[in-house]
Amino acid sequence: MTKTLYLQVALPVPLRRTFDYLQPHDTSTGQLKPGVRVNVPFGKQTLVGVLLGVSETSDIPENKLKPARQILDARPLLPKSLLDLIRWAADYYQHPVGDALLSVLPTLLRDGETAQTRSETWWRLTTFGKGLPEDALKRSPKQAVLLQRLQQGDMQQQESKSLGVSGAIFRELRTKKLIESYEKEISLEKNNLPNLLLAEKPHPLNEEQQHAVGEILSAKNFAPFLLQGVTGSGKTEIYLQVIENILKQNKQAMVLVPEIGLTPQTIDRFRKRFNKPVVAFHSGLNNRERLDAWLQASRNDAAIVIGTRSAIFTPMPSLGVIIIDEEHDSSFKQQDNFRYHARDVAIVRAQREKIPIVLGSATPSLETLHNAINDRYQLLRLTQRAGNAKAPRVTLIDISQQKLHQGFADDLVDAIRVELQKQNQVLVFLNRRGYAPVLICADCSWTANCQHCNVRLTVHKRDKQLRCHHCGFSSAIPRHCTQCHSPRLDLLGIGTQRSEDTLSELFPDNKVMRIDRDSIQRKDALTDILNIVESGEPAILVGTQMIAKGHHFPNVTLVAILDADGGIFTADFRGAEKLGQLLTQVAGRAGRAEKPGRVLIQSRYCDHPLLQTLTTQNYEVLARQLLAERKTLGLPPYRSQAVLRAETLQPEEGFAFLQNVRQMADALLPKSDAVHIIGPIPSLMEKRASFFRNELIFSTHHRPSLQRVLHELALKVEESAAGKKVRWAIDVDPI
Ligand code: ADP
Ligand code: ZN
Ligand code: ZN
Repeated sequence: MTKTLYLQVALPVPLRRTFDYLQPHDTSTGQLKPGVRVNVPFGKQTLVGVLLGVSETSDIPENKLKPARQILDARPLLPKSLLDLIRWAADYYQHPVGDALLSVLPTLLRDGETAQTRSETWWRLTTFGKGLPEDALKRSPKQAVLLQRLQQGDMQQQESKSLGVSGAIFRELRTKKLIESYEKEISLEKNNLPNLLLAEKPHPLNEEQQHAVGEILSAKNFAPFLLQGVTGSGKTEIYLQVIENILKQNKQAMVLVPEIGLTPQTIDRFRKRFNKPVVAFHSGLNNRERLDAWLQASRNDAAIVIGTRSAIFTPMPSLGVIIIDEEHDSSFKQQDNFRYHARDVAIVRAQREKIPIVLGSATPSLETLHNAINDRYQLLRLTQRAGNAKAPRVTLIDISQQKLHQGFADDLVDAIRVELQKQNQVLVFLNRRGYAPVLICADCSWTANCQHCNVRLTVHKRDKQLRCHHCGFSSAIPRHCTQCHSPRLDLLGIGTQRSEDTLSELFPDNKVMRIDRDSIQRKDALTDILNIVESGEPAILVGTQMIAKGHHFPNVTLVAILDADGGIFTADFRGAEKLGQLLTQVAGRAGRAEKPGRVLIQSRYCDHPLLQTLTTQNYEVLARQLLAERKTLGLPPYRSQAVLRAETLQPEEGFAFLQNVRQMADALLPKSDAVHIIGPIPSLMEKRASFFRNELIFSTHHRPSLQRVLHELALKVEESAAGKKVRWAIDVDPI
């Protein structure tokens, strides 16, 4: 008798364990390879899981185990290296392994769809059909047309339209056994192109660029690089030339970009350069297209994969380099469910695959800068803008003592006018969408707040709505104060819509265009705006941080930052870092081509050290100051953090739950003072989408100690009665 085998299956359930099943009845042992999907009964449902391993023993008696229903894949969907990487990440980020694994698969695979790219129907002649004389079908002209077409070669079903031949004709010829159909998998457009790799000539590199490319390509093993180059210094050109070399070695390249950096322009730059298939994982793909792209990458058909954070888990059998553009961007961190940081996972992936990884940014995160300073990453600098572009001049406008016109100082309005008269373009940055951030009663100071979150509702005047930017709640703009019924309601503060109106009034002869999440909802809206910008006509662009990234605006000579103060005084210890990055990135939009640029920053606190350092020195000087502060205060990257957060409808419930968790944690702590715990305390945003949020904050100078505590704690909480009732999650390295 053959030995009983037990399948260890990871399932998409919120439990930190795997599940044992018996081998499905009609399968051979050869099919049981880790990484294949399995259909299994789970309670009353059938779930799709991933096979992690096969064992000859199980802790559960055989008669209590059920057989799995079916093995879904002939070959592992996830190669061992990737399977191991995801398991590592689930472990590191304290997330249930099955949920992590399934959540990084394309939706269709998660739902059990076969792992095949779409196929198309093609037609060809049968042997009998081939032997037919040319004029055999004279009496039926349509049939003759089809036959003649097929005599020239196979054709796709779709071509029948342009040929003017209906489905009935195909069926008639098939009945006569003259033609037959077959299914062919769709392939990537560029796979059959001639051998010429480059479709576009690369720029001759300047010395710094050459040095960077040379260093990256000389890496024979894992080698992390920080490519720190001011905006417009030619980082992308370096990526392209590194990739060119990687492709010549018949290897693949992965490029990760921030969420709002994945524009058609970005993708185009890669598609235009290479005669090789590029797949991009962007939000415009439907589930089918996403699966096809994923399979093409995993079969080595795609040479380059471009995507946002989740693309880090794409199988790529001959991956030769990973590039993370704008590595400081916070969209690389997933903020719900499986809370991984794609940049950090990428480092581990590169390490395991023994390949170079390039983190590019004009404003590196303090974590990455810290690693470069400590020689864990090799620092490559680009100090000059590429081509002829010069760095912009930055000036502060003190608005503490002057009356503003709808948020604009007179000096700023004058400066904008001058640039427009010179036929240049102006970019106005304001990190707040909507018309006004506050609706307030002039009589009793009541403000319109979200019922579900503790934030104010933003006035969206065009849609006559109040909206919550955190939970999506919306309501009509009231005519009277809810508290005292006074009709005197004021709009306080300024959003992009209001600035757009103000600028249109001030400059009626120029186009004023707004770029924010609301204005680009229509599919081609952004492209339309960018086309006008590209045409070069004098115009004003007003927008949120969406304009800070990715786009190249050669005619913009003036960048105005309306309000630098928003981020100066925040409770978030990363506030200063983020503000420094944002201001530098926005400023970098000025003077990207032949024309020199300038930047004007309005602030009520022009003497603030952050603004002083940024304007008289640069981001890196600021970053080093901030690092020194973090060291004194014992904050990341000098100590690691993790948060255990509870969300409950009643605030007391979450608090009590966390007090209990804290007791469990204290009992697990080592005698040394390796791990500190703070809390329970309310989260920065205490109420969101009707849930009250409280948290415990863990910090350590010894990461393994923290990892061990969290691991044991998570299992204990998961098993506790309260842990099954309360919504809770662990966030490792939170941002
Ligand atoms: P970054 O990614 O650092 O913002 P880009 O790679 O987009 O910079 O380069 C900015 C501009 O300079 C682009 O228009 C690019 O084509 C051009 N450029 C890059 N490298 C060179 C070079 N060596 N010589 C001339 N122009 C270059
Ligand atoms: Zn009132
Ligand atoms: Zn809300």
